[in-house]
Parts: sequence; structure tokens; C-alpha cells
Amino acid sequence: MTIPDVTSLRAPTAVPQTAVPDASGIAGIPGDAAPRSPDLATAQPVDPAAAALPRQPVAFSPESARVDIPILHRTVNGHPLVWLDNAATTQKPRQVIEALGAFYGAANSNIHRGAHTMAREATEAYEAGRAAVAQFLGAEGPESIVFVRGTTEAINLVAQTWGRANLGPGDDILVPVLEHHSDIVPWQMLAKETRARLVPVPLTPDGQIDQDAYADLLSSRTQLVAISQASNVLGTVPPVKEMTALAHRYGAKVLVDGAQAVAHFPVDVQDLGADFYAFSGHKLFAPTGIGALYARPEVLQEMAPWQGGGNMIESVSFAETTFAPAPHLLEAGTGHISGVIGLLAALNWLTSFDREAVTAYENGLMAYAQQALGAVPGLELIGAAPERIAVLTFTLAGQDPATVAAWLDQDGIAVRAGHHCAQPALAHFGLEEAARASLALYNTSEEVDQLVASLRRLQESGGEGQQTMR
Ligand code: PLP
Repeated sequence: MTIPDVTSLRAPTAVPQTAVPDASGIAGIPGDAAPRSPDLATAQPVDPAAAALPRQPVAFSPESARVDIPILHRTVNGHPLVWLDNAATTQKPRQVIEALGAFYGAANSNIHRGAHTMAREATEAYEAGRAAVAQFLGAEGPESIVFVRGTTEAINLVAQTWGRANLGPGDDILVPVLEHHSDIVPWQMLAKETRARLVPVPLTPDGQIDQDAYADLLSSRTQLVAISQASNVLGTVPPVKEMTALAHRYGAKVLVDGAQAVAHFPVDVQDLGADFYAFSGHKLFAPTGIGALYARPEVLQEMAPWQGGGNMIESVSFAETTFAPAPHLLEAGTGHISGVIGLLAALNWLTSFDREAVTAYENGLMAYAQQALGAVPGLELIGAAPERIAVLTFTLAGQDPATVAAWLDQDGIAVRAGHHCAQPALAHFGLEEAARASLALYNTSEEVDQLVASLRRLQESGGEGQQTMR
């Protein structure tokens, strides 16, 4: 295998400059006011006091977001990239990319243990990231935030710590059928281990969680309800706050999978009443490998460590180990320091926009896309819940989803095809696979038009698309 030349992946030099003010909040992690290629030798140490998320967001337009995303200015197969695979991962603003470069170029150090200046600065930046995540989620404080690799690891952490300690034979875990596999499989494994019962909550024909069935399934046996705040395959946004309040009446805890929610609308974990909330940075314009778990302070205090090692202890002897307070006792080993720096830059970038305006824009784009796609001959949209994020899962008569995705790719349009890690949700619609276009704040109606035009050409090719990928 040859290693690709990464210099060929450089963004084109003609990337437009942004009109969005610098919200990186970290000195030495350049925004607009800084040179585009930071002089890493003169980059300044992190100023955690400046890391609080912006309080006065600026007006939003998709163009003001697009100019910050270098990758959107590349071509794929000779066409400008149309990135409609945002539910899989989002593209990164230059503020995030530059933050990573500035950290490794000027501020790299391990955290929490060092006696020197750079260790202190890196620690302050890492903990500023925790405070920013707490603020972003409306959490009680930074101590409620555990850094993890992503949503999957957050859910597994809860299963392995809180779950193992609190579940036993005869207990129920309620999980709606629309969940991502990462909000099913860890509970299935835990149920097997503890001899608890995993209970699927059925869906209505249009892809909502059946609220009557949910109310019927709740009982004094229910220990945990695990729900997504937005479905990655149906787009459904369930009434999580009401479902949480109902679960609490039975004394059950509620874990909310926010992987698909956080990029689309503001979240307030205290208002939701969530006991746990999980998200992944990479679906929120931040790097891969970093995410966060929120746990309500009373619940977090009861959680035992799940991995042992450095960073999570107070003192160690062969006779006895004592642990650091939460959240550190759940973060064994060196954390993903640059990931947290990148996450902080991403949060600053996203919250620099008026988020209500972002949500309104995405809802409008979703409505436009639904109508435009719905008019493509043979195209069937999957899921029709009234409250949805901008996820459009579809089938096209006579074409298998992989062919559809490959055809679109020839036009530079990236969509996903397959089971979307939500096989039970697709099975509810009698499907094993489907294609999915998922939108973000930087997508435009022109890109939707290109998607629709390409799909129409595929249908007009009379199935030739199957044999002749252009
Ligand atoms: N939950 C939902 C709703 C998702 O869409 C995803 C990823 O697609 C996950 C969980 C898992 O996220 P990650 O792979 O980043 O851990």
C-alpha cells in the first residue's frame, strides 16, 4: 500500500475569508484577527479566561459558515464537493484546524501532572474545554462533564459503571426501536451480564416513538430509559423532556444520546432533566476521538471507576488505592488534549452564530429538500415524524442504495448508503438498507438542487447507472 501524499489534500489557496468574528477565545489559537498561517513560534499560551462561549452571537447565513470550512472548496470527481453526509461526520472550520496546529506547534504538553509552565497552560486549556462543554450543554458545572472518545464510549461507560452497579435480574432497560446501535448493543451486553431485560419501545408507522406504548412499558421494574434526542436515520426528535419526566415518576434514570442533536439545536440538560447526556465532537464540527458525557451531579458522585490508571487516582500503594474526585476518576490515562482544544474551538465557532437562526435555517432547508426529493420519480422518503432534524433517508425504485451513493459520488455529492447503524429502525419500514442525505448549517438549497438533478438523471438513465458509472 502506498501512503497518500497529504500535501495534495491541502485546501485550495483561494478559500474565501470569513466575515464571522473570531470566537476561538483562546490566545494562540488563531481566528480572523490572527494571520491565516499562524507563526507557531510566537503563538501565545492559552488564556482559559477567554474561553467562555460567546454571549452575543452574530447573525447567521449559510455563507458565513461555508467560508470557514476549507474542505467545502475542494472538488471530488471533477465537481465541487457537495457534502451531505453530516450525520456520519461534519466538516471542520479552519478555526478548529488551526487550533490543532497552534496547540501542537506552540502549546503541546501533558496535563494535570506537570510542574512546568506549559503543563499548567495545557491543563488550563483542557479544563477550559470542560467548562465550555458544561456551558454549551447547560450543565450544573464543569465537574459534571467527563471527556470520552465519543457517544459510543460515553454510553458504554454508563453501562459499565452505573449500569453494573444498579441493574440486576428483573430490572428493565427501555430502548426505543429507532436507536443507533451504540444505544442498543451496550445495553444488550449489560442485560446479558446482569440478567436484566432489554425492552424495545415500538415506533408508530411514521417513525415516532409510540408514546402510549412507552407509558405502558414503564413500571417500577424500569431502571433506565435510553433515548436519542434525534434519530440518525429517521431524523425523529422525540419529546425527550416529557419522556424523561414520565420515567422519573417510576424512579428510572434517563440517558439521552445527543449525537445527532447537538449540531442542530441548542441543548439544556437541566431543562431536559436528563441523568446522562452523551455526544461526539466529530458530529459537532470538532475532531474525531473526543466527546463528552454529562452526568447529573448526584448520579455522577455514585459512579465507580471503569478503567484504572494514571490521572484518576489520589494515591496508590499495593495495599490500597484512593481515587480522584469525579469527573477525573472516570478519565484514566492521558486524555485527548488536542481533541479538547479542537472541541473548544468548534463550540466557539458554532455558538458564534445565532443558534435559533441556524435551527430555523436548517428547518427551512429540510422542508425544501423534502419537497424537492419527494418529486423525484420512484423516490420514497423514510420516516415522517412531525419533529425532525435535517436527515433525509430514502429509497429509489429500481436502484439499490449503494448504486445511488456511487452515482451521486460521480457528481461530487457525498451521501451514505447502508443500514446506518440503525437496523431495527430500518426493519420497522421493512428495509435492510437505504440512502441518506443529511444536512448541516453550511448546506444550501443549490446543493439540494444538485442532489435532486443527479437523482433524476439516474432515474432517466433507465437503470444504466447500474452498469455505467460515469
Ligand atoms: N448515536 C447516534 C444517534 C449516532 O448517530 C451515532 C453515530 O452516527 C452514535 C450514537 C455513535 O457515535 P460515535 O460513533 O461518534 O460514538
